[in-house]
Amino acid sequence: MSESALMNTYGTRSTTIVKGEGPYLVDADGRRYLDAISGIAVCGLGYSHPAVTEALCKQAQTLIHCSNLYNIEPQRQLGEALINASGMDRVFFSNSGAEANEAAIKIARKYAQSQGISEPEIIVADRSFHGRTMATLSATGNAKVQEGFAPLVSGFKHVAYDDVAAVANAASANTVAVMVEPVQGEGGVRVPANDYLNKLRELCDQQGWLLILDEIQTGNARCGAYFAYQLNDVAPDVVTTAKGLGNGVPIGACLARGKAAEVLQPGNHGSTFGGNPLATATALAVVNELNQEATYKQVAHLNKLLMTGFQEQLSNVAGVLDIRGKGLMIGIELDCDCSQLVEKAKQAGYLINVTSGNVVRLLPPFIMSDDEALHLVGAVVRLVHEALNTGA
Ligand SMILES: *Cc1c(COP(=O)(O)O)cnc(C)c1O
Repeated sequence: MSESALMNTYGTRSTTIVKGEGPYLVDADGRRYLDAISGIAVCGLGYSHPAVTEALCKQAQTLIHCSNLYNIEPQRQLGEALINASGMDRVFFSNSGAEANEAAIKIARKYAQSQGISEPEIIVADRSFHGRTMATLSATGNAKVQEGFAPLVSGFKHVAYDDVAAVANAASANTVAVMVEPVQGEGGVRVPANDYLNKLRELCDQQGWLLILDEIQTGNARCGAYFAYQLNDVAPDVVTTAKGLGNGVPIGACLARGKAAEVLQPGNHGSTFGGNPLATATALAVVNELNQEATYKQVAHLNKLLMTGFQEQLSNVAGVLDIRGKGLMIGIELDCDCSQLVEKAKQAGYLINVTSGNVVRLLPPFIMSDDEALHLVGAVVRLVHEALNTGA
């Protein structure tokens, strides 16, 4: 199929996906693939999940859209479900991750104004990814994402990730917030020290800064709790999410707590589609499925199966630098470029991802069976050997 009507943002794509069932995607030739990246951390519940599909169909027959000039009942219910799941106070709904981060950045800037800071600065991390809009790409710690789009939005200061002292050193009287991912996703599945978020929280409390967590990828049960910060018992002032929230229906959310939750007032922010009935009714079904002890247990169980398998079979292999992850966000770092594994895995029936050129990234669905998880381990181990040319 010619894609010439489309801007070339995604390059040439060789596979056309037409259907999804559970953890599998099916292409136009009827080939099945185990989607071990879940549509990039979106479909944790897999494809054609009955409760999600039913909620979407039912809402489509009732009311697809209603503007934010009126009360929207599923929006109110989803807001409450997220408050319950997160311990935050209030929610703003967007249509994507980048837009959720835009809301968070606007909260930080308006909060700065109330503190008498006229040129506010947000401290962000190297290797971070926060989105592709002008503000969020400016916050992103990756020159490739920014290249060609000068002038960038000012007010972001980049420091090393997983380094609390670097944050303290970079601060000035203009600092108003720190924004990081609890585990860096696009940046290479980088898991910080266990107490990184706790120490950032302490520093933010001392200095009166907002702690903003970008949980667009780590949230929605991906790391084994509704939000990854809950594993650390840390409460952020602002948290953003998107990817897994709608299990495929476009929706994002910016949640805030305490004083940060009262910053945006009528007229300060909005979105035509944000929180519309179709998206919120569907996401409500998703959150009800995700926010259950059984889901978190299953994520922990699959994490153990996968991590044990990779550690047993790869940790002593020369060229494997690191095997790391949290929940179902797993990275295997090699000492060489392994981008070619994406295509090779696809030929073997597995959809995987490579970030930073040398990190195999897995974001498998929570509904995978033990057998599927073990087959995935076997396939990835074979592919890694192939990339390292160890002849196994
Ligand atoms: C994907 C992602 C974003 C951007 O989300 P979009 O929905 O693509 O705008 C932002 N931050 C993180 C951590 C992400 O993983």
